[in-house]
Parts: sequence; C-alpha cells; structure tokens
Amino acid sequence: MNLVFLGPPGVGKGSLAVRIASEYNLLHISTGDMLRAEIAAGTELGRLAEKYINDGNLVPDSVIIDMLLAKLESESASNGYILDGFPRTLNQARELDKHVRIDAAISLEAPEAVLLDRIANRRVCPACGKGHIAHKMNGRLCDCGAEVVTRDDDKAEVAKARLETHNRLTAPVLDYYKDTGKLISVDANDTMEGVANKVQRILEELGR
Ligand code: ADP
Ligand code: ZN
Repeated sequence: MNLVFLGPPGVGKGSLAVRIASEYNLLHISTGDMLRAEIAAGTELGRLAEKYINDGNLVPDSVIIDMLLAKLESESASNGYILDGFPRTLNQARELDKHVRIDAAISLEAPEAVLLDRIANRRVCPACGKGHIAHKMNGRLCDCGAEVVTRDDDKAEVAKARLETHNRLTAPVLDYYKDTGKLISVDANDTMEGVANKVQRILEELGR
C-alpha cells in the first residue's frame, strides 16, 4: 500500500506518519527530514534548500522531485510506503503519478489557530530527532539527555509564511487527489491517539 499524507504545517503529519508506518510496516519517507539531513551534512543540496526553508518557501520542484524519485528507487519497500511532505505542488503530484501507483491520499485538517499554536509549542531533539511538545515537557531535556530546540522554520514569522505557502501551492494538490477519487479527509483537531485511530480505521477499510 502506497500512501500520501497531506496536511498543513503543524497538523501532526510527521508524528502520525512515523507511527502508522511502524504499525503497518510501511517505509516512512519524509522530504522535510531528508532536506534537514542534507542541511546537517552540509551538502550542496542542503545549502540550496536551507535558503528556501528558512523563508517559509518550498524548495524548487526540479530539486525535490529528483531527490524523492532517487530515494524511491534506492529503497526497497516491499510492503509499500508513506510519503510525508510530498507532493506539495500540483507539478509534484503529476510527476509522482508518472512513476508510482498511489493508493490513497490522507488529508489531515485542523483550524489555522490550532496549527499556529502547535507550531509554537513544537520542539525537537537535535541529537536523536525525537519530537516534543514544550508545555508537556518537564524541563528542556529529551529522554536521550540532549537539550531540545525550536526548529528555525517553526519561529512565528516563518510558520505564518509556511501556512501561506501551503494554502497557495499545496491546496490544489487536494483537488488533484479528489478528482482521482483518492482523497480521504481526516479531522486532525484531536489528540494524537484520536487521529491515529481514525487513520487506522481508514486503512483497515482500504485493506479489505
Ligand atoms: P512541515 O510539514 O511542518 O511544513 P516539513 O518537514 O515537511 O515540515 O518540511 C519543511 C520544509 O522543507 C518545507 O517548509 C519546505 O521548505 C521544504 N520541503 C519539504 N518537502 C518539500 C516538497 N515536497 N517540496 C518543496 N519543498 C519541500
Ligand atoms: Zn533525544
């Protein structure tokens, strides 16, 4: 089963994708994580991507499509995969369909105020990559002992720009999957547990 997870920044797409992927033995492919790894490694691609990311813009289609297709070719996903953060433009969605078969696009939805609030509270561990919620933490340390940080692009101004970018460029992707009958919308203004349960029910339905 090959799935696409769609949703605005802050909707909880990443954590949910990690969880569902492990429960269903699917490969989790996050273009955001891949780009952050490139930045951390100081590659040419990373240096290029960083400029766009820190302004709340998308990395150009040409770059991101090549990166994603190379990844799909190099990984073996016998059971299928979850694409998290791709496609983010109409062009990316069309290009993807030329190469692989997507079974369903799960769209996670929540009001903008909820998204901004979640982004403001989001922290990440620079050592192990684990995500945290600031007001649920006891202190500033991850279980691994490292001090958590706010992602540069989670700062308020950039977060607003990312939401704006999403509404402008990624919203048409929803229509694209709607037109092909693959779109499944999920109300994500709920606990992680609640959203995971809804998605599990959807996947059970799809599996039958
Ligand atoms: P979020 O879903 O919270 O916005 P991601 O980790 O998915 O965060 O992505 C972070 C940034 O990486 C995006 O704001 C964008 O600049 C870049 N990026 C990730 N995936 C893509 C993509 N498919 N196309 C273009 N840019 C991307
Ligand atoms: Zn950690």
